[in-house]
Amino acid sequence: MNQLVILGAGPAACLLAIALARHGVPARLIGRARTTHAVEGLSQRVVEALKQLGCREALSLLGPRWHRVSSWNAQEVEMNGEFVVDRVAFDAALLRDVSAAGVERDAGLVRELARDEGGGWCVRWEDEAGVLRRTDAVIVAECRGHTAPKLAPDRHAGNTLVSISRTFEGARRQPRTTFIESLPSGWAWGGVDPQGRAHIQVVTLPDTVTASGGKPDAVHAAALEQLSRMPLRFGTRLRPAGPARARGIQPALRGAAVRADYLRIGDAAYTCDPLSGHGLFEAASGAIAAVPVINTLLHRPAQALLAQRYLSERISSVFFSRIEAARQHYATETHWADEPFWRRQSAPPASAPADAPAPGAVFSERPVVENGFIVERRVVVSDEYPRGVRFIDGIDLGRLDALIHAGGMQAPADLGRQLSAPGEAVGRAVGWLQARALLSRTGH
Ligand SMILES: Cc1cc2nc3c(=O)[nH]c(=O)nc-3n(C[C@H](O)[C@H](O)[C@H](O)COP(=O)(O)OP(=O)(O)OC[C@H]3O[C@@H](n4cnc5c(N)ncnc54)[C@H](O)[C@@H]3O)c2cc1C
Repeated sequence: MNQLVILGAGPAACLLAIALARHGVPARLIGRARTTHAVEGLSQRVVEALKQLGCREALSLLGPRWHRVSSWNAQEVEMNGEFVVDRVAFDAALLRDVSAAGVERDAGLVRELARDEGGGWCVRWEDEAGVLRRTDAVIVAECRGHTAPKLAPDRHAGNTLVSISRTFEGARRQPRTTFIESLPSGWAWGGVDPQGRAHIQVVTLPDTVTASGGKPDAVHAAALEQLSRMPLRFGTRLRPAGPARARGIQPALRGAAVRADYLRIGDAAYTCDPLSGHGLFEAASGAIAAVPVINTLLHRPAQALLAQRYLSERISSVFFSRIEAARQHYATETHWADEPFWRRQSAPPASAPADAPAPGAVFSERPVVENGFIVERRVVVSDEYPRGVRFIDGIDLGRLDALIHAGGMQAPADLGRQLSAPGEAVGRAVGWLQARALLSRTGH
């Protein structure tokens, strides 16, 4: 019986396996490597996560950062660059990092996840020779992406969009650059390299695809006609290097994402609008956040509910903040405001999420990470910081508040002595609490 089995072979699965190995938590990974090509951009924050986890193979694939140009709301802005990867190569490199980290891996297709006779998990999977196998587990981390079977209905499902990608040769040769540009029926993201190879992804409404008879090549060509800035950069001699490929997109928050013996990580937990370009970062940060949760579930079962609450709140708060950030970004494009795509994508949400925090700032007991486990501590929760703030300038706000509550307001230097912290830092933490009217609530 395995303590922990990870299902999948993408960024979430690989980075979770590596992060657990770095923390001495053994896991077994069962997954089939990705075979469909897609060009995706990743931010410096993903690179930081790869460095933190020592993913040398994935890092060695990245090369230099690509220059990035955005044409949005009739303004062309040069922005922080991004790294561009082919996902088949990137995922294969991550799998090599998994092996280098000493994680046991079975290459295979998961056919079924079911309860075994003793109430644990039984994974039935097919190996590369087509032989059906069985692996038992106490805890399962579901990382099979957005197609992972659901255990419960979605908690939230956003608008469906379609992304259509196509690769071209013959673009104007130039330093590696990515572009994003809005157009009446959606937006386009593209990259071009010094060999004149260009990749352009168009995101539009499913209705636009239906109206063109469902032909991705035609939709892609029509969208390119609507672009004004990108063709100036790419030149007029683009030659398709293959057919256009369509992928469906739907921001969704899955139900039952966290249980005492089951966690969904990466796209299996929630998917965002690709406008945010955050998918790989979400997979990486979600994997890193899951480590203390799994540690707690395995070694401190009495705190299992707290650990589940931590991950579940994190998933839902990140999801809603990402979809709201994407909506606000869509709303900043005002040139096509009356077009169906832009009306729909920038429309305010019908209602606030059920677990949105109450307005104002309050102290609240919340699950936090401490020494690799999930523990409960007093933090400040507000609509600005829905997941809570525990430290300001290294000062534990809950401890500071308790101290003031017990002994009355004292000079920062005196409080600092009791907290073994510099008086100036305590002064700033006190000021932070006062600005949120939190000290007055303690009666001081
Ligand atoms: C059109 C589009 C464009 C995007 N562009 C970007 C971008 O530019 N930047 C960015 O950061 N993100 C982007 N994303 C999001 C990004 O692709 C995902 O967020 C990311 O891949 C999530 O990683 P994951 O490991 O959770 O899932 P996945 O990458 O989907 O990995 C799932 C893994 O599970 C395996 N698997 C699935 N089923 C089984 C099974 N039954 N048995 C065994 N293995 C299985 C798969 O082969 C795969 O290896 C984009 C998404 C879309 C749809």
